[in-house]
Amino acid sequence: MDRGHQERHQDGHRENSTSGMTNRELPEDVAAARAAIAGAERVVVLTGAGISTDSGIPDFRGPNGVWTKNPAAEKASNIEYYLADPEVRAAAWQSRLASPAWTATPNVGHRAIVELERRGSLHGVVTQNIDGLHQLAGNDPDKVIEVHGTVWFTRCWDCDDRRPMSEALDRVRAGERDPACMVCGGIVKSDTISFGQQLVPQVIDRAMAVSDECDVMLAVGSTLSVFPAANCVPLAKASGAEVIIVNAEPTAMDHHADWLLRGDIGAILPALVETGLNPD
Ligand SMILES: [Zn+2]
Repeated sequence: MDRGHQERHQDGHRENSTSGMTNRELPEDVAAARAAIAGAERVVVLTGAGISTDSGIPDFRGPNGVWTKNPAAEKASNIEYYLADPEVRAAAWQSRLASPAWTATPNVGHRAIVELERRGSLHGVVTQNIDGLHQLAGNDPDKVIEVHGTVWFTRCWDCDDRRPMSEALDRVRAGERDPACMVCGGIVKSDTISFGQQLVPQVIDRAMAVSDECDVMLAVGSTLSVFPAANCVPLAKASGAEVIIVNAEPTAMDHHADWLLRGDIGAILPALVETGLNPD
């Protein structure tokens, strides 16, 4: 390894022979973003569907998206249709039984975020995903702010009773088409935010609070076009945070980015936190 060449980089002072990959081997913007993360005390990671596609969780609106291929699924995710029509609910329960979320496993992108927590610099994960993969990867559930809810729990529309999804799925497997609330007999759905449904104010408030407090905002796998989650980025920026955006496609917040890293999340995230790399 010819370390002399590292001096050409402005961030050469960040070079660190104990890390797996030296800055010389990284694209310059990745190396600079990595240095920002390494120097941060409070990193907030905002994640969208793009971080979970490598785990086999399809996104919703892409070419292979759930709604692109099956418009009926979009109907089931609209709260008005869901509440009004037992047939929509029956179809939704069958769809939940077959969800890829039950067998999906976290990927290197999720594990890179766990590494940030292990180092003590993770202030929070704000996720638009409902798959629970951050917690499954090993992030402290208290650190994960699920702005669109989770498929791992159910909630009663009437009495708010919340319990593990597995209980309802067992009832569906046993023959119930539309399992009613065990407490009040009301309509049960997954504890996710459907279209037409209000977000949970306390959850959104927490997402905004951690974004306001961070010194690095790392947005991963989101088009940053769904609000209010996308507002975390300009909020962090306005509070003085450095903004790193990692996504395969352009996002609605690219103009806020200090570092725009366009490419494969599974390659870039580990490079940003120095995991999965062999010592040289
Ligand atoms: Zn109930």
